[in-house]
Amino acid sequence: MRSQDVEVLREVRRQMLREAHEEMRRQEVRGQMRREVRSQVRSEMRSQMRGQVRAKELSAVRAGPRIRRSASVDGVGARLLEAYAALAERGEHLFAGLLGGATPKQWAHYPEDDAIDASRGYQWFYHSHSPEDRPGSSEHGHIHLFARRPLWGRRLRSKSERAFAGLCGDPVSDAHTRHLLAIGFDAKGLPVSLFTVNSWVTGDLMLGADLTMELLESMELDTGHPEVDAVVEATIRMCLAELSELMAARDKSLAAHVGPDKLGDSSLELLSEIAVDLDAKLAIQGD
Ligand SMILES: [Zn+2]
Repeated sequence: MRSQDVEVLREVRRQMLREAHEEMRRQEVRGQMRREVRSQVRSEMRSQMRGQVRAKELSAVRAGPRIRRSASVDGVGARLLEAYAALAERGEHLFAGLLGGATPKQWAHYPEDDAIDASRGYQWFYHSHSPEDRPGSSEHGHIHLFARRPLWGRRLRSKSERAFAGLCGDPVSDAHTRHLLAIGFDAKGLPVSLFTVNSWVTGDLMLGADLTMELLESMELDTGHPEVDAVVEATIRMCLAELSELMAARDKSLAAHVGPDKLGDSSLELLSEIAVDLDAKLAIQGD
């Protein structure tokens, strides 16, 4: 090879190396920018969540028992913030994907056929009732969360389930779901309440408090709606103490209501409700 050709090849090689280095630098800068944006969005979301929760009437909001700070709870809080940060980065509301940009219609299910995690056995949908139906409520809508039959079908003969069925008047139903919980959201898409409703509202039945708590505690969701799944999971993990109270209050309401068909009695709708303040919990974690 002529020395001239060798020099040309060397120059080409130098040029390629220069370009590769420049590309690496560009990627580094982009990565750094992404990291900065992410951390900025995260801190903005966090202060926004605090601001919004504080903007509500604090007298009406219970922070609930202070939760023990632990690595797992810290992780859950981080997951919640990351879900909202990802939405903020895309400029999206939590339910934007579900509502498809349309104004939500009262009572319509979002998604229409429910969000289903068939492999784990959970499903949920988002909707809103008519304002008259939830007077005094500041929520935008709520998620109804259900457990599918494989999660509880073989558990119905347990002592606690038989006791709960007795409390409910031994109802019979061939429904394939059991309603676990409803989570109320404000207009910004932040969870603000946990509540339980009577079975005529959801058209299925409920499970005893022990099994309900077990299914909530171990719940993981992958329905194809990652941010909503993350928020539902994180809300539940951060509010286990409140959920125990909520289930106890539910059973108290059922026990106090007399009548032959208490699960079908439309005068008994809301069984128990607790306002939640995730911002307060995040603040505890961040201390
Ligand atoms: Zn509802």
